[in-house]
Amino acid sequence: VDPREALDEIAWLLERERSSRYKAKAFRVASDVVAGMDETRLRDPVLLKNTRGIGDTTYRVIREALEGGVPTYLADLRERAGGIRQSGLRTKLRGDLHSHSDWSDGTTSIDSMAAAARALGHEYLALTDHSPRLRVANGLSAERLTEQLEVVAGLSGDGFRLLSGIEVDILDDGGLDQDEALLDRLDVVVASVHSKLKMDPREMTRRMVAAVSNPRTDVFGHPTGRLVEGSRGTRPGASFDAAAVFAACAEHGVAVEVNSRPERQDPPDELIAIALDAGCLFSIDSDAHAPGQLSLLDHGAVRAEAAGIPPERIVTTWTVDRLLEWTAR
Ligand SMILES: [Zn+2]
Ligand SMILES: [Zn+2]
Repeated sequence: VDPREALDEIAWLLERERSSRYKAKAFRVASDVVAGMDETRLRDPVLLKNTRGIGDTTYRVIREALEGGVPTYLADLRERAGGIRQSGLRTKLRGDLHSHSDWSDGTTSIDSMAAAARALGHEYLALTDHSPRLRVANGLSAERLTEQLEVVAGLSGDGFRLLSGIEVDILDDGGLDQDEALLDRLDVVVASVHSKLKMDPREMTRRMVAAVSNPRTDVFGHPTGRLVEGSRGTRPGASFDAAAVFAACAEHGVAVEVNSRPERQDPPDELIAIALDAGCLFSIDSDAHAPGQLSLLDHGAVRAEAAGIPPERIVTTWTVDRLLEWTAR
């Protein structure tokens, strides 16, 4: 086993199981260190041990890899990942419309996110970092987003498109938290509620209907905002008139997101059923904050398939050309 490949795969699998970001990062750092190291140093146990950026665990992984076996740490992670259910629908998904980089609250560069999406076989990935009001997530000002567009534009090619985008906060009055002219320039706009989830249901309904009726909105992100498990604890989702909100989504051609993160599982099954009845489109997204989390799509696909969402109503089964025609509608 190549030590770098082992370290990279461990980082990927740790991200996928959403363990601490520092843990995954230690393996990414070690992988970079190994890349810049000469063979002599790499193969000398004492020199290796005394290399900055190599800790006890990463040292052991590298040594076991050099000895020719699969490092124990990697074997354990692989075993845990092996239990994840798969679906026929997953093979129809061509891309992902919701992901974050270290420009907001993701853990890695745009470049690593794009490389990981290519490695997964995606035809496209939309980079959708947060908007200014979400300060805790280092949301992008109009200036920073404009700057980001130049970086994004340079990362397409060889059958892969990195799409420009944003996860824009839905403000209390249903407005979108970014300059409208700038939103017009983006390939994909995901609009999500991140604040005042406990708002009165009638006001919340008005707020959501206004946001999905905005012609700039393409995807209605994690509709309820609920958390059902995980390190951030649990919380109930927002209460709103789902039939009214999803009717507005259908009327305006906005896709209802099936957010694949296991701690979200959003929207709940009963809401997916209402959105299906309303005639909505859907988008199965990872909401990845690290490269390994792009593969969380597996979970969303299992849920969408079980809920009986027809693949042709899922925009992420469409070709990139059809997708962009839709977002430009
Ligand atoms: Zn969000
Ligand atoms: Zn997000």
